[in-house]
Amino acid sequence: MSSAIPQFDAELIARHDVAGPRYTSYPTAPQFHVGFDELAFRAVACASNEDPIPRRLSLYVHVPFCASPCFYCGCTRVITRDHGKAEIYLDHLYREIELVAPLFDRDRPLVQLHFGGGTPNFLDDMQMSELLESLARQFSFSRDADREFGIELDPRWCGPDYVRMLATHGFNRISVGIQDFDRTVQAAINRIQSVEETRAVLDAARASGFRSTSVDLIYGLPKQTVANFRRTLEQVIELAPDRVATYAYAHLPDRFKAQRRINAADLPSAAQRLELLGLTVEMLTAAGYRYIGMDHFARPNDDLARAQEAGTLQRNFQGYSTHGDCDLIGLGVSAISHVGATFSQNERELRDYYAALEEGRLPIVRGIELDDDDALRADVIQQLMCQGRLDIASVEARHRIDFTNYFGVELERLRIAANDGLVEITPENLAVTPRGRFLLRNIAMCFDAYLHAPAAVAARYSRAL
Ligand code: SF4
Repeated sequence: MSSAIPQFDAELIARHDVAGPRYTSYPTAPQFHVGFDELAFRAVACASNEDPIPRRLSLYVHVPFCASPCFYCGCTRVITRDHGKAEIYLDHLYREIELVAPLFDRDRPLVQLHFGGGTPNFLDDMQMSELLESLARQFSFSRDADREFGIELDPRWCGPDYVRMLATHGFNRISVGIQDFDRTVQAAINRIQSVEETRAVLDAARASGFRSTSVDLIYGLPKQTVANFRRTLEQVIELAPDRVATYAYAHLPDRFKAQRRINAADLPSAAQRLELLGLTVEMLTAAGYRYIGMDHFARPNDDLARAQEAGTLQRNFQGYSTHGDCDLIGLGVSAISHVGATFSQNERELRDYYAALEEGRLPIVRGIELDDDDALRADVIQQLMCQGRLDIASVEARHRIDFTNYFGVELERLRIAANDGLVEITPENLAVTPRGRFLLRNIAMCFDAYLHAPAAVAARYSRAL
């Protein structure tokens, strides 16, 4: 799929614009249940050490605080300017680290670290340094060239010195939120951020030896027009990040309180959203970015594009990842772990997260252990989302099934997509077509065993476009 040039077919995309999961996991988070608890997590963590070749480790750390609310936001975050709250949070995070770290053998190298939020740079230099030193004492940070230590930064609240401090701790990848540079749009979403402060952070990262820089944009925001978004894209291309993620804004004010402050009358229409997406694809591909899939673009020499070419690209909770073969440990409120064939999530509210740790318990609230059917479907969905193709014989060998017999119903669903030109089906392969590249999740949905009640799907997930 990597070398195929995607074909943006607006009419086709509009026709398939249905609600559906983004498949950062399969089964998806709504399937997690409270039956998977701390004991289950401890058992699977211990068992993971006994694998013939234990997987390497990946660590995700969630910092939930933000100094100001962006009105479009649907993340788990706490709005505050009180940095004393960070101290209380860190106290509890350290307790969690002390409970979790001993569960994993010390000789398992930690090759991936990711700080997300919220705003990770809500932690000041001292707090961040102490946290990183503590993690380095309790896990074996890899020194390998392929290690990936990344962090999401908000340039409104940090400068070049902070980026240089991160470099001294081994960070080599940053992701910077932009969303839109137009001042009218920024006012409507309550996020005023200049090109200059964004450039200062990206330049500092490059000067400090960061291997990859990434920016996030959102299309479908209030007051966005093709003309003003074109200007934002020009400014982004000039900033020359290695990766660009362009997410579709999902207006769900019943679910996300902050979104109630967005005037629905200011939102672009479905046709305008499609134009904004088409413009994004056109301008980024013309500027040399490769479409990876599901909103992600990368330069051809970026690790993400290389991983896709090598067939090692994976999907995880940060989107696409180059280290999907690891056991992922999530730390902090709402963080998700993926250890062995399980997913588990921490408490989503700070008070519950704190209460569990004060009682000396891991703050795990729910999770799921994959059965054979889940594992098979997760594999199929992963292949389609990351590589855009599926080698049927290798799936049959890995899971000891007869593909055509096992997936009779799914192949029927897929044939409808094939009739629309989204995917090609042969006895050997399933291959997403260049026109199907923007509808990956629609194709993956054909294999999702949990999606049988369309009404429930529409209520839970945002639309594809
Ligand atoms: S978008 Fe990011 S910075 Fe803005 S409120 Fe949400 S988590 Fe915080």
